Amino acid sequence: MDFTFYKYRVLVKTLLSKGFSFITFADFLAEEGDVANGSNKVIILRHDVDIKPQNSLATAIIEAELGIKGSYYFRMVPESFDIEIIKQIASLGHEVGYHYETMDTASLRLNVKREKLNERRKEELIDYAYNEFCENLGTFRKTYPVSTICMHGSPQSGFDNKDIWKKYSYKQLGLLGEPYFDIDFNDFFYLTDTGRCWNGYRFSVRDKMPQQEQWIKDGLVFSRTSDIVRAAHANALPPRIMITVHPQRWTNSPLAWMWELLFQNIKNVVKWFVVRRGR
Ligand SMILES: [Zn+2]
Repeated sequence: MDFTFYKYRVLVKTLLSKGFSFITFADFLAEEGDVANGSNKVIILRHDVDIKPQNSLATAIIEAELGIKGSYYFRMVPESFDIEIIKQIASLGHEVGYHYETMDTASLRLNVKREKLNERRKEELIDYAYNEFCENLGTFRKTYPVSTICMHGSPQSGFDNKDIWKKYSYKQLGLLGEPYFDIDFNDFFYLTDTGRCWNGYRFSVRDKMPQQEQWIKDGLVFSRTSDIVRAAHANALPPRIMITVHPQRWTNSPLAWMWELLFQNIKNVVKWFVVRRGR
């Protein structure tokens, strides 16, 4: 069975054993010069918390156990934005960021469709989406000092959430970066579990990079998690990678008992890590 927390742990442990270090997106931006110039193997570890935030707490705990950190991007919707879980994930040492989608939400609120928008109406929509973004960011920052963002790409939407940055600047909001703009994917290979496989770019409209064709030519094609593990053992992975994980797609089923075990003790586990970090 693939996409279990067990497999996730195997993946991370393998990459660690092959000399990769894991960093958050904010740390990458802060240390960009060092990271880019070094020959070090580095993975920017990103998680999109679309739904089921408790699954993200599970990967956050696994990563803390293995001594690594990543970035967790939460949407400003009830099925993602869980203040308690955000605090727990942050207390494990991970970065938390905003997974924004305000072009989508603003277009729904204003009841507009892309085909029907002239330039003036499109600009109004961008203004509306930007204001909503700022409000949400303010709400988010009451819980966590967000410094990076990452767009949510809804496949049903006719809008691109990044379009607000055609008119406005997130840097003026004290935000350091957005992966789609601030990572050079000629330098970083991109791996995402979109569609519960590692080659879901075939089905994805937005979670796809212009460099994808070249990566396919280079043989960097993976379907199962074990394919990546095998490539790591064969030293066939590029030295710099961004990995995007959607923890809602990873489960312990049919080992539901492990899940129970994990969540029965979750508060204690988090406390244990907080205490250990405090030493
Ligand atoms: Zn998303």
